[in-house]
Parts: sequence; C-alpha cells; structure tokens
Amino acid sequence: MSFEVIRKLTRTLAFKLTLWYAVFFIVSAAVAFAFFYVLIVRIIDQRTDADLLTQANRLNQIYALQGSELLERAALLQVQAAGEQKMFFRLFYPSGVFFASSTASYWKDIGIDRRAVEAVLRQGTPHTYATQAVPSQPFRARVLYKRLGGAIMLQLGYSLEGESSLLRTFRRTFVVTMAGLLVVAMGVGWFMARRALSGVASVTRTARQISEDDLDTRVPVRHRHNEIDQLAVTFNQMLDRIKQLVGGIRQMNDNIAHDLRSPITRIRGLAEVTLSSGRGMEDYAQMAASTIEECDRLLHMINTMLTISRTEAGVDPITFQPVDIAALVRNACGLFQPLAEDKDIRLRCEADGACAVRGNESLLQRMVANLLDNAIKYTPAHGEVRVSVTGGAESVRAVVQDNGPGLAPSDQARVFERFFRADQSRSQSGAGLGLSLAQAIAHAHNGKIILESRPGTGSTFTVSLPAL
Ligand code: ADP
Repeated sequence: MSFEVIRKLTRTLAFKLTLWYAVFFIVSAAVAFAFFYVLIVRIIDQRTDADLLTQANRLNQIYALQGSELLERAALLQVQAAGEQKMFFRLFYPSGVFFASSTASYWKDIGIDRRAVEAVLRQGTPHTYATQAVPSQPFRARVLYKRLGGAIMLQLGYSLEGESSLLRTFRRTFVVTMAGLLVVAMGVGWFMARRALSGVASVTRTARQISEDDLDTRVPVRHRHNEIDQLAVTFNQMLDRIKQLVGGIRQMNDNIAHDLRSPITRIRGLAEVTLSSGRGMEDYAQMAASTIEECDRLLHMINTMLTISRTEAGVDPITFQPVDIAALVRNACGLFQPLAEDKDIRLRCEADGACAVRGNESLLQRMVANLLDNAIKYTPAHGEVRVSVTGGAESVRAVVQDNGPGLAPSDQARVFERFFRADQSRSQSGAGLGLSLAQAIAHAHNGKIILESRPGTGSTFTVSLPAL
C-alpha cells in the first residue's frame, strides 16, 4: 500500500469513526478493569486483615488466661497450622527486644514497621496494619501489630504471594483479552462505519454521475427511514429542484430568443422594404417611428424581465413603508376608467376606507395595474370588471374579478410562468410577463396571488398581503 493510499485512508470518516470507537472501547475497558482491580485488592486486604485480627485476638485471649509461655506455643501451633511460609509471628517488648518468633528462615529479614508500633503504643490504637516488603522475595506481606496485655507486642504477618500471583494473572488475562478484543472492536467498528456510510458513498457516486445533460439520475432510497435515507431523499429533492430550474432557464432562453426575434425581424423587414422601395423622407420618417415603437416594446420587455429577476432574487433592497392599498386601488381604477370606457366595460371599484400594508408603493402600483390591465384587456366589450379591497386582522385582500373568457385548468397552472400566454390571448398585445411580475412583487411582500377561473365565466385574481 503506497503512502498516498494510506494518507487517503486515514482521512476517511470510516477510519476516524473506527479509531474513535477503538479508543472509546479501550478507555472504557481500562476504567472498568481499574475499578475491578482496586475492588479485588480491597476485598483481599479486608479478608486478610479480618483473618489476622481473628488469629491475634485468639492469642490475646490465651495470653490473658494462660500467660506468655503458652502464648508462644499457641502462636507456633497457629503458624504451623497455616503453613510456615504462609504466616509468621514475632513477640517482642516495646523496647524492641524479641522474646519469641516463628522459626522459618523465610521471614527472618522482615523488619518491624516502627510507625505502626508507635501508633499502637503512643496513640492507644488497639492494632494497626501495614503492608511490608519481604527482603529477597518478589511479593509483600500484610502485617498486624497488636499489643497483648500490658507489655508484649505481637507482629503477625501473612504472605501475599497467592494474592500477588492472582492479581498478576488477572492483569495478564486483561492485557491478552484486551489485545484480542481491540482487534475485534476495530474490525467491527470498521465494518459498522463502512456499512453506515455506504449510503453516503452512493450519494457521492450519484453526484459524480450527474452532468448538465443528465439530471434524471437519482440516489436509490432504501426506505430504512434513517439519516442516510433522509440525506438521499433531500438530495433527490434538490435534484428535482435543479432539474426544474434548469428546465425553466432553458424554457426562458427559448422564450426570450423567440420574443426578441419577432420584433427584430419586424424592424429588419421594415428597414429592408424602406431601403428597396422608399421614395422620400416621409417613408424614412415612418420607418424611424415604427423602429422607435418596436424598440420601446423591446426595452419594456427587457426592463420587466430585469425587474422580475431582481425582485425575485432580492438583489436591490426594497424600501418598505406603510401603504394604503385601498387608496392605491382607487387611484388605479381612476387611471384605468378611460380604458374601460373605451371598451365599453363597466369598471366597479369597491375599495372604501383605508387598508394599510407594509410595502413598496411603486411596486404595488405595478402589481395592481398589471391585474387591472389584464382584466380589461381580456374581457370582451360590454363586460364587467370588479375590484375590491377588504382588510382583516391578519391580511389585506385585493380582488380583481372579470367576466371575461376565463382560463382552462391547464393554463391556470401556468399563467404565472414567464412568457406564458394562453393560445386564446395571442391576438392581444403583451409579452406574458405581467403576471410573473405581479407574483414576484406579491412574494417580495410575503404575500401571494391566487387565480380562480372557469372557462367562459371569468377569472378572479386574489392578492393577499400581510396586514400592517
Ligand atoms: P400578457 O402580457 O400576455 O397579458 P400576463 O403575464 O399578464 O401576460 O398574462 C399571462 C397570460 O395569462 C395572458 O397571456 C392570458 O393568456 C392569461 N390571462 C391573464 N389575465 C387574464 C384574464 N383576466 N382573463 C383571461 N386570461 C388572462
């Protein structure tokens, strides 16, 4: 395995998770071992201490009843019964002078713990324990110091050889078991981490496969309802949105190209005809006027597209201030009244009083004007357009209703798309941008526009904006 492969491997999440798992495992096992070790040592000490004390109390009783000679014999018998290498005793005067001890040379070099003796003699403690090293032996001994009657000190010791070897075995078993378990833990950790992250790998693979032309590939969802499934579902939803956006952009490009081509073709045709057959200044002036008209239409379209994009993207911060929607609608009705009269359409305005929202006045004016313009434009002569404003505690509703041709359900879903124009409306002027702009403005005000329409009956556009 090359150095580069190892470096890549150590950077993977699976490797880090395995490492964390192993470290956590070893630390918790070591803590548990330390706890049990201390517990075992303490239990052994307690048991040894209790044994020593029972033996010492028995000797104390013998001494009290039968004197020092029998004490020495009883002590020897006790030591022999326990095993001379297992136990030893010494009897000495507080001055330090011995008067009896067990015979095994095994114990001969073990000293007397002065501090323990002092504690018994001076501080009046009935007995004390000490753990002492045994010279030339690899183990230690637990020793009890006790005053018998008035004048004799007893040193009674118990070899900890058995316990030491038990603890040694315990430690060795722990190390060997841990080494084995560590290997198993790392294997299990690696397997679990790889398994858990296999879903992430599949998301990564899919992301790599996706190119601009292939937005149809999706991450397989295993329906286990876990985090990886959520990631896959979210990723797929994101792909759906990207696909929709890319499709929208493509569609818009087509529409823009199409809508720009017609006026430019017209301008070019006009210029060509004037050049080839133009006879005088009048023809050229006519051509210039038509060109200006077409250019104005083009500029209007481009400006509207820019306004929609900017409003949707929030590029330019919009200045909001209290706006009376009722007054704004009344003004708009006044402005559109002559247009309605020209078409013999009855324009009814029901927007009394005041209904305030927080908004941008000029954008809201454009929104209302677009809806009114459409209603008058698409409603045939002798029709009726009703505009009303109602205020509620939560929202303000402005409704523009007409009894025009209405829209087919399939068209209703698309009227807010840029450049969309229903087939029946192609005879009318327009670029299919008015409702997109109106919706972008409503969204920028945290509001919405809803269309209700039945073909042949009319259309109702309802704008809801949060009340001030
Ligand atoms: P346009 O410039 O074509 O009016 P809009 O975005 O304002 O563009 O409207 C998009 C399309 O929605 C229109 O072309 C028309 O087909 C349809 N539409 C809009 N308002 C009405 C209405 N009041 N009645 C019937 N159709 C409408």
